[in-house]
Amino acid sequence: MRIASHGVFDMTGKIGKVGVIGAGQMGSGIAHVAALAGYNVKLYDLSAERIEAGIATISGNMARQVSSGKLEDKVRQGALARIAPATTMEALADMDLVIEAATEDETVKRKIFAQLCPVLNPEAIVATNTSSISITRLAAQTDRAERFIGIHFMNPVPVMKLVELVRGIATEDDTFEKARGFVESLEKTITVAEDFPAFIVNRILLPMINEAIYTLYEGVGTVEAIDTAMKLGANHPMGPLQLADFIGLDTCLSIMQVLYEGLADSKYRPCPLLVKYVEAGWLGRKTGRGFYDYRGETPVPTR
Ligand code: NAD
Repeated sequence: MRIASHGVFDMTGKIGKVGVIGAGQMGSGIAHVAALAGYNVKLYDLSAERIEAGIATISGNMARQVSSGKLEDKVRQGALARIAPATTMEALADMDLVIEAATEDETVKRKIFAQLCPVLNPEAIVATNTSSISITRLAAQTDRAERFIGIHFMNPVPVMKLVELVRGIATEDDTFEKARGFVESLEKTITVAEDFPAFIVNRILLPMINEAIYTLYEGVGTVEAIDTAMKLGANHPMGPLQLADFIGLDTCLSIMQVLYEGLADSKYRPCPLLVKYVEAGWLGRKTGRGFYDYRGETPVPTR
């Protein structure tokens, strides 16, 4: 793993200190890859316990990379030492880049920007990892639409090679170039997407997952039949229901709602069965149950 050395933002024009808001699946993954690439990272969430849980996930995932020979133990130790908890927004004040990776809910994100922007260095770039919400609209809720951008990582961040970069209407070229440099330093491949609901990957992927849930809802196939059909019949590495559980069913539902409302087309209506699972709190792997039950040794379909 290449270790980049980064100076201070003002001296080199590059990003050196990175704040991450949200220590869930995505935030912990972003902190993981940024720390491995040599950045000093601060991780913020609603409570010290959630931040600790995020850091524990990173530590576990890095240990797995060491045991599979992908990472030297010395590099792991150095990267972990570069990740610090931030228990207040003020702790993010001197970051060069802050990436928001909190729950996919516009109200939550709006509240975060309202707390973050007044304390953050006015020159700093604010990015969001949203899967679907308009970058332009989120940018308008900050004090720095020119220095706001969508940096959309894929799950799991340490494994997936792609990052979508999404400009809002006001995003300056300098912001785009700094974001590009940052993402390239993480050794990810960039695709540039225009700011329309769900960008490229999820615009295509989520309607397929929603259709798989309709296929289940209408009794065309069982969970197992649908996943096997798409794995062996379309050569997908994971079945769509397994993938939905992996993404998080709350996140899947939010993305469908954004597509449905943003494109005003009934073909994007979320399947009622997806709504039911979310209402039950069966959100997939992260809560132990979704289209599969993960509480035993092997996942068991729940329908
Ligand atoms: P998650 O549920 O695993 O984590 C969300 C975290 O945000 C939680 O730890 C929660 O405590 C925290 N949070 C909620 N409100 C907060 C607040 N006010 N301040 C700070 N932290 C707060 O969700 P996730 O899967 O990590 O998704 C996070 C973001 O990344 C979403 O915008 C999602 O759309 C996007 N995303 C998700 C995936 C995926 O496959 N899951 C892929 C790409 C992008």
